[in-house]
Amino acid sequence: MSDTIFSKIINKEIPAEILYEDDLALAFKDINPQAPIHFLVIPKKPIATINDIQVEDKALVGHLYWVAATIAKEQGFAEDGYRAVMNCNEDGGQTVYHIHLHVLAGKALGWPPYQATLKTG
Ligand code: AMP
Repeated sequence: MSDTIFSKIINKEIPAEILYEDDLALAFKDINPQAPIHFLVIPKKPIATINDIQVEDKALVGHLYWVAATIAKEQGFAEDGYRAVMNCNEDGGQTVYHIHLHVLAGKALGWPPYQATLKTG
């Protein structure tokens, strides 16, 4: 796949507010936060979408959730709660084609996360 802006963040070619880093994953604040707390957890391995996750990536994707929970506990919002989601492709609202877990917290989040305008045709 072609490089995305997240590859540049991994390679420290552009800045980000990094919260966590290890050999497999990186977590950093979202540049356009949608909640009082909003950060992204990404694998260092570039995987374009959820659909591109291979059998050998299963533990890596689980690791992203472990990183999210570890940061949530460190930052003290784990018990209050949070949302950890990945968007996939156009209808899912994906804009950066390097999988990333959105972690949103700091207020009671709405559900469902869509407008009541149904797609037709
Ligand atoms: P998605 O729409 O699910 O693909 O999410 C992409 C997310 O990446 C959005 O929430 C953006 O605000 C965020 N984003 C894009 N560029 C950057 C950046 N340079 N640093 C931090 N977050 C970014």
